Amino acid sequence: MATTVVTQLKQCHMIIGGEKVVASGKIEIQHNPATGEPQAEIAWSTAQEVSRAIEDSHRAFASWSRTPVLQRARMLFKYRELIDKHADELCAMVTEEHGKTLEESRASLMRGLESVEFACSAPTLMMGETLERVGTGTDGHTLRVPIGVCAGITPFNFPAMVPLWMFPIAIAMGNTFVLKPSEKVPRTAVRMVELLLEAGCPAGVVNVVHGGKETVDTLLTHPLIKSVSFVGSSAVAKYIYTTGCAHGKRVQALGGAKNHSVVMPDCDLPSTVASVMASSFGCAGERCVATSVILAVGDAGDKLVPALVNAGNNLKCGAGEAKGVEMGPLVTGEHKKKVLGYIDAGEREGAKLARDGRKDKLTTEPGNFVGATVFDHVKPSMKIAREEIFGPVLSVIRVKDLDEALKVIAECEYGNASSIYTSSGVTAHDFTERTTTGMVGVNIGVPAPSPIFTFAGWRGSFFGDLHALGKDAAKFYTETKVVTSRWV
Ligand code: NAD
Repeated sequence: MATTVVTQLKQCHMIIGGEKVVASGKIEIQHNPATGEPQAEIAWSTAQEVSRAIEDSHRAFASWSRTPVLQRARMLFKYRELIDKHADELCAMVTEEHGKTLEESRASLMRGLESVEFACSAPTLMMGETLERVGTGTDGHTLRVPIGVCAGITPFNFPAMVPLWMFPIAIAMGNTFVLKPSEKVPRTAVRMVELLLEAGCPAGVVNVVHGGKETVDTLLTHPLIKSVSFVGSSAVAKYIYTTGCAHGKRVQALGGAKNHSVVMPDCDLPSTVASVMASSFGCAGERCVATSVILAVGDAGDKLVPALVNAGNNLKCGAGEAKGVEMGPLVTGEHKKKVLGYIDAGEREGAKLARDGRKDKLTTEPGNFVGATVFDHVKPSMKIAREEIFGPVLSVIRVKDLDEALKVIAECEYGNASSIYTSSGVTAHDFTERTTTGMVGVNIGVPAPSPIFTFAGWRGSFFGDLHALGKDAAKFYTETKVVTSRWV
């Protein structure tokens, strides 16, 4: 007699007022990206539950905003230690939800940890300025004060890191926070907020709700929400920005990307190939700073393309938790379909398919795998050169010189990051001066800045004024008060 094995699905709860609460909206099933097996139930929050979370955070604001900043920072020091202590558990969860390799999960968690470390410097970041005798017997000074309940809406590709870009800095400044993680990968964020409570964070300072557009709309329109931090695709970023602003919120909305790497004929080929491979195919291309277009100057492409194809042939793909794996699956079956559609489109448009990831055995097996794909002789007007694919598909455009490369970058709708590979300091300097993206790499494929700096996307990659991380974040999460005083 056949026996049926019933696998218990993992649950995902909200956090409201320091309590784990199961949401009562619709239930979505999360599938394992490497096997396609169902692994968790994600219950979405209703509009009433989102409002409850916001009101609870509003109540918590009264005492948290008056807690001395040194005390808030001390709690975050403890939080830093707890994340470090639970790193293996968190990385395993990121890999299970998202599919990336354990090594990639660790690297992203460590970047998130750096953001917590940055938040620990809140006492310095919040210091104001003083000027004596701005008038006769009159002094002036500024204060940086928290703004209230802040909201955070995060994407699927960094389940741990992107939430850590937001709430630690916001609460260090004295705000409270409602987080809505990606509905595709929400469990890591919930676990991280549980650890925050364990570190001594008072109930309600950070609440977590779940869902999609409806949940986001409640956050965007609720009168008690004072600011919205968003990271995700550009179309949604633009919507968040316009809707949030129309409802009087301060908004920073980080969008999608199409990042170019210029390869000069004088580059060091082996290290350039290694760097491009890591940038384009790391995290299966699901990174907003991934190189998705190479601008090969002069004859640089003649040696580069065969070397990339060879490296692609040797790239070890498989389940993210397996040892030695260099590229995991895409996040969902739906996303895999979208990426395969782009490869079909590239072929139809006449680009030369130098390496076809569709032919890799894993691509045809269960799980959301797509092999490393390289297109050569791509034209800037082609869909694969213009649109964000967010998968392991690299396009090589041949250009005659640096000027032509810079023109392609400037004409791109997005302006997140660009890089150059060269052994000439003069060329590198010229490039960093003239390129038109907010983040720039020199012989670096993933120019994601340390959280001490801001994450500075331009054009269609960012909607707002103050960016995420760095000093911009400290300003975004505070309001300036200017005091002019005279004592007679
Ligand atoms: P997404 O835009 O689909 O979703 C992001 C968030 O918005 C999720 O929490 C989702 O629930 C919510 N959302 C989705 N549709 C919505 C709608 N119509 N109205 C309101 N909210 C909505 O993005 P994603 O697929 O989760 O993430 C990938 C994207 O994020 C890529 O475009 C990538 O480049 C971008 N990204 C950008 C950065 C950056 O720093 N600029 C960093 C990471 C990812």
